Amino acid sequence: MAAKIISGKEISQEIRQELRQEVQELQEKHGVVPGLVTILVGENPASVSYVTAKQRTAKDLGFYSVQENLPEEVSEDELLQMIEKYNKDEKIHGILVQLPLPKHINERKVIHAIDPRKDVDGFHPVNVGKMVIGEPCFLPCTPHGILVMLHRAGVEVDGAEVVVVGRSNIVGKPIANLLLQKRKPVGNATVTVCHTGTRDLAAHTRRADILIVAAGRPKVITADMVKEGVVVIDVGVNRIGTTPEGKAILCGDVDFEAVKEKASAITPVPGGVGPMTITMLMKNTVEAAKLWAGLPSEVG
Ligand code: NAP
Repeated sequence: MAAKIISGKEISQEIRQELRQEVQELQEKHGVVPGLVTILVGENPASVSYVTAKQRTAKDLGFYSVQENLPEEVSEDELLQMIEKYNKDEKIHGILVQLPLPKHINERKVIHAIDPRKDVDGFHPVNVGKMVIGEPCFLPCTPHGILVMLHRAGVEVDGAEVVVVGRSNIVGKPIANLLLQKRKPVGNATVTVCHTGTRDLAAHTRRADILIVAAGRPKVITADMVKEGVVVIDVGVNRIGTTPEGKAILCGDVDFEAVKEKASAITPVPGGVGPMTITMLMKNTVEAAKLWAGLPSEVG
C-alpha cells in the first residue's frame, strides 16, 4: 500500500487563506491589526531562516510585524528590557524570541519575562499549565500544527494507539499530553512516549496506529519498526548536507521512502510539519489580537 501524503504545505495554505480573511475582517469591523514582534539574537543560519519565514508570512497575512535583530553578545538584561518594552506595546499582540539563545542568556528567564497573554509560542509556564489541564491557552505551535493536520487529513484519533518518539518540552511532551486529553475534535487516544531510555523502541513503534516522531535523528524509524496502515507524522528536520547552490538538504526522522510503502498516510520532510508550525504561530497571533481587543478568542 502506498501511503497518502499529508501535505502540511497544502493544509497551511488553506489555513493561511482563512487567516487572511479573518485579519481583513478584524481590521474592517474592529480596527484591530494583529501585531507580531520576532526577536533574533545572533546569526545562527537555521534561526535566521525560521525568523525570515515567520516575518514574511506575517506581512503576507496583513499583520503589523516588527523584526528585532540583536547581536550575539547582547546582554540578558538588554534582551529582558526589550521584552518588557513589547509587553507594554499596544500594537504588539505576540512576542516571539527565536530559540536557541546564546549560552550566556538564561532561556528560562526570557520565556518567563514574556507576558503570558502575548506568548504566541506557548512556552510560558502559565500556558503550559493551562494546556495540561485543558484550559483555553496558546498551544505550542508544532503540536498545535500536528493536531490540525490530523484533523484536516481525517485521521481517526479517538481510541487510537499513539506512540510519540521524543519528550522535548516543545514537541514530544505537549503533543502526547494533548492527544491523551478527552478533547474534540482531536484527542482521546492511548499515548505511549518513547525516549533514549526506552528499552525496545521498535516494540512500541510497531504497536502504533499513529506514530509521531520528534527525535532529531535522521531516519531513526525504519520500515521494520512500523505496522501496515500506520499514520506517520515526522517532525524531524535534519540537515544532512548542502546542494552545490548552498541550500540545505533536509531529511526527517523517518525513512520516508521505505515507510511510505507500509503506512496509510505520512507527512513529508520538507513540506510536512514545518509549514504548519509557522501557520499556527500566525493563528496564535490572530487569537492574541482578539484577546487583547476583548473579542471572543480561542486562547482565553
Ligand atoms: P530534542 O529536544 O532534541 O529532543 C529529542 C527527543 O528525542 C529527546 O526526548 C530524546 O530522548 C529523544 N530521542 C533522541 N534519539 C532517540 C532515539 N534514538 N530513540 C528514542 N528517542 C530518542 O528535540 P525537539 O526539539 O523535540 O526536536 C526534534 C526534531 O524535530 C528535531 O529534528 C527538530 O529540528 C525538529 N523540529 C521540527 C519542528 C518543525 O516545525 N518541523 C519544530 C520543532 C522541532 P532523551 O530525552 O532521552 O534525550
